[in-house]
Amino acid sequence: MWESGAGIPSAVLRFAIFVPFATYWSDADNHWQNVRKHVVLQQPPFNPNIFRGEQIAAKWGKIGFFWNFALWIPTVLFPGPLVFIVGLFDLTIATMLGIATHLQSAYSPHTYSACRNGGAETWQVPNGTQSFFTLAGQLNATKTTPETMCRDYVEEWKYGVAMAVCYSLIAAFNIILSAIVCAVAARDSPRHNRSFGEWILDTFMTIPRATYFIFICLVMIPVMFFRCLPISIKSRARFGARYAVKTGQRVPTPRDIKMRVMRPKNSKSCYAGNYQGKATNLADFLIYDVLVLIARDLHYVDLVNLSLASKSVHDAVFPGSDFLTRSEHFKMYTCDIASKTQCWVCTVQICDECQIIRSLRETPLVFHLDICKPHCSPCYFSAVCQQNTDRLGNTRCACAPRSEITKWQKIWHGPSATLNLSTTAPSRGICRLCNVLDDATLLGAREARSRAEMRDAGRFKNCSKCAGSLGSRGPRWWVCGRCKKECRSHVHPAWGEKGEP
Ligand SMILES: [Zn+2]
Ligand SMILES: [Zn+2]
Ligand SMILES: [Zn+2]
Ligand SMILES: [Zn+2]
Ligand SMILES: [Zn+2]
Repeated sequence: MWESGAGIPSAVLRFAIFVPFATYWSDADNHWQNVRKHVVLQQPPFNPNIFRGEQIAAKWGKIGFFWNFALWIPTVLFPGPLVFIVGLFDLTIATMLGIATHLQSAYSPHTYSACRNGGAETWQVPNGTQSFFTLAGQLNATKTTPETMCRDYVEEWKYGVAMAVCYSLIAAFNIILSAIVCAVAARDSPRHNRSFGEWILDTFMTIPRATYFIFICLVMIPVMFFRCLPISIKSRARFGARYAVKTGQRVPTPRDIKMRVMRPKNSKSCYAGNYQGKATNLADFLIYDVLVLIARDLHYVDLVNLSLASKSVHDAVFPGSDFLTRSEHFKMYTCDIASKTQCWVCTVQICDECQIIRSLRETPLVFHLDICKPHCSPCYFSAVCQQNTDRLGNTRCACAPRSEITKWQKIWHGPSATLNLSTTAPSRGICRLCNVLDDATLLGAREARSRAEMRDAGRFKNCSKCAGSLGSRGPRWWVCGRCKKECRSHVHPAWGEKGEP
C-alpha cells in the first residue's frame, strides 16, 4: 500500500548520468579552484561572467552529483508525495545547472574545433594580449597548453547542457508522475475508508520506515555471517549472548512487596471453620442435611446460583462462619464425579454436564501461562541453542498473540497493523454464571487472574524437560511449547532469586 513507483523512470535516468555527471563536476570544480585562486582571471579583458559561471557550476555540480547518488534507490521506494518533493529539488538543480551553462556560453567556445589552430590563444581578446585559456593554462595546478585548457572548457559546457537537459527530464518525470499518483489517491481515498490526510501521513512514514529498512539490511550482514557458522560455535555464541541479556534483566525483586492474605472487614463472618463457641441451632443443621441430600442431584453452580437469591438464602447455604467447609462438602457431592474441573474464568467447579463451551480469543498472558515452559540451562542449550534453524530463521518464538495495537504501531505499520492481532479462539469450558457475560469482560477477568498466577515464582520448580530442579538462583529459560523456540517476553521472570520457593 505504499503507492510507490512514480520515481522509477527518473531512477533509470539517474543511473545513466552517474559517469557524465562525475566528469562535469570534476571539470567545473577544477576550473573553479583555478579561477578562485587567481584574481587576474576574474578581471578585464576577460569576460565578467567567468567568476559567477564557474562558482555556480562547481557548487551545483557537487550538490547535484551527491543528490543524484543518494536519491537513486530511495526514489524507487518513495511514495507519490515524496517523489513530488524530490522532483521540486531536481528542478532547482536543473535550473542552477542551466544558469551556469548560460553564463559559460558567454566566455567558452561551444566546439572543440574553435580551440584548434591558435583559436584558444586568440579567443575573445584583442591582438597581442594573452587569452583567458593561455593564462588559465599557465596558472593551472598542472600546467597545460591553451588548447587543452580550451577543450576542457568546451567539455564542461557540453556536459553542462547535457546535465541540465537530463535533470530537467528527471524533474519532469518525478513531478508529473507523482502528481498523477497523488490525484488518483485523492480521488480513491474515500473508497479505501481513509482520508487523504491519513494517506499523506502514512506516506510520509515511509522515510523512517525506509531508514529502518536500510538499518536492518546493514545489521543483517554480520547476522548472515553468523548464521553460516557451524552449529557448535553458533550454539555457544547464542547461549553466551542470551546469558548476558538475562544477566542484564536481573533486577532485584522488591522483597517488601509480598502478597498479603486478604481478610474480610467483618471479622464476625470470617470464612474459617469457627463457630465462635455459639451452639449451631437445629434449623441450620436441618437445612444443611437437606442441602447435602439434594446436592447429589445438582451442579455446584446451582447452589451458587441459589445462594444469590437473597441474603438469608445465602447465609443458609454458605454461612459466613463455615464457608470453607461447606463449599468443600458441596463440591464433593455436586456435579458429575468423573468430569469435575474448574471454570476457565472464575475457577468455580464445573463438570461436563454443566459447563458451557465458548470460543474465546487467545490473550497474551494466558498464552504465556499455558504454553511457555521453564527449562534448565543444559536443556535450554540442547533444545534451543543447538537448533539448526535455516539461514533466515532464528531461535526467538513469535507465537504469542499481540495485545492491543498502540497508536504508534498503527502509524508505523500503516493501515495493515490491525491484521496482526491473534485470530485463534480456542474452546474453553466456563460456568453458567460466567456465560452471561460478554467476551471482553471474560477475557479481562481471566487476564487479571493470569497476572496473579504469573507473579507466583514458585509456580515452576522443575525443568519441564528433564524434571531436574531449576535451583534457587540463576537464569530462567522459557521455551514455547508450540514452536520449541525461546520465549523472550518480559512477562516471564528472567532470573531466579534466592528466597523464592
Ligand atoms: Zn456440573
Ligand atoms: Zn465461571
Ligand atoms: Zn512466553
Ligand atoms: Zn512459539
Ligand atoms: Zn532440564
